[in-house]
Amino acid sequence: MSRDLKYTRNIGIAAHIDAGKTTTTERILYYAGVNHKIGEVHEGASTMDWMVQEAERGITITSAATTVNWNYRGDKYHINIIDTPGHVDFTVEVNRSLRVLDGLVFLFSAVDGVEPQSETNWRLANNYEVPRIGFVNKMDRSGADFLKVVKQVREMLGSHAVPLQLPIGSEDAFKGVVDLINNRGIVWNEHDKGMTFTEVPIPDDMADEVTEWREKLLEAVAEYDESLMEKFFDDPASITEREILNALRQATLDAKIVPMVCGSSFKNKGVQTMLDLVMELLPSPLDSAGVTGTNPNNGEEVTRKPDVKEPFAALAFKIATDPFVGRLCFIRVYSGNLDAGSYVYNTRSENKERISRIFQMHANKQNPINNIGAGDIGAVVGFKDIKTGDTLCDEKNPIILESMVFPDPVIGLA
Ligand code: GDP
Repeated sequence: MSRDLKYTRNIGIAAHIDAGKTTTTERILYYAGVNHKIGEVHEGASTMDWMVQEAERGITITSAATTVNWNYRGDKYHINIIDTPGHVDFTVEVNRSLRVLDGLVFLFSAVDGVEPQSETNWRLANNYEVPRIGFVNKMDRSGADFLKVVKQVREMLGSHAVPLQLPIGSEDAFKGVVDLINNRGIVWNEHDKGMTFTEVPIPDDMADEVTEWREKLLEAVAEYDESLMEKFFDDPASITEREILNALRQATLDAKIVPMVCGSSFKNKGVQTMLDLVMELLPSPLDSAGVTGTNPNNGEEVTRKPDVKEPFAALAFKIATDPFVGRLCFIRVYSGNLDAGSYVYNTRSENKERISRIFQMHANKQNPINNIGAGDIGAVVGFKDIKTGDTLCDEKNPIILESMVFPDPVIGLA
């Protein structure tokens, strides 16, 4: 059965080392597990049991792509989190991961702001025109300054960073944010480790600042929607949350705006809100016009659309060894469908090989699946001859997706 691609997200989390990528990812895996369980009524273990177990065990991403499920406003989303190496030595690997993901959560430390590896990764992401949202982490630390980081993203990275929130309280007293889209305060609940939040009034002493930044937000998004622009001048109070989100989504997809939010993953604040915005603002595979490659028979350019009915085309982006299932090849499927047990053509080796099994890698289990379709990411077992960068496709409709010549990170500096 093919999944509705509208509810798929292939995202990466990029950051300078120490900004909190590991902590944030662990929070996501944890919430996704809890969130998923809440949606299932027949499970034996209660949510609390599960939370305690997972907290004791400590869940970490060990895989090149980890799949989580996320319930958002009544829909169930399927998120593949692609590992993007933070270290400067892995630029080739960063390129490879940027090639296969559709959107990025870009993490900054609220104290250190834009750091050298943020600059390198930001520019690599610019080369691939990857839509992104910014998450300013460590808001609980002394010296944390959300708006300073927003300014740095504008001035040092040359992007139109737009705050969607303003922090309530600072350092130890950081407890929530004003949500500028909905014009309300939110404080993350402690009893479920920040998985949910409580609405609070906007603090009186923030009223002027909130008015000013909400207006800036509305002005920025109104540029992407004419009717919103009219309302902005005639009757700003009539602008709805949905109108703001839709215009913001378009601006984010076009990489014209980088929406910025904040939190403290270590203190369980803000990660849930950020993840909800991933569903709202970052692209699904359907937002892509397709992938372009070369037909090896005649050198002509070919495009494959994100559709299971198109001929199969996938890129092998990471080879890894898993202690339980052995040698795994991680693939991003761009078009068509691949069944476990079937044969696939490799345009480099010019050989056909049989796929014995396909897996979706979760934080705590490897989930075998019967097939994998356009827009999805998974791990395949069975190859004898496979290299990262290989294109796997339908023999009758061959395509080479990538020559593994990557853009130079120095080119295109802002
Ligand atoms: P990574 O190198 O980006 O993966 O960063 P880690 O997640 O390993 O975090 C680096 C250090 O910062 C660790 O000691 C974390 O406990 C700490 N840390 C991460 N997030 C926060 C945060 O929101 N607040 C504070 N105070 N510390 C944090």
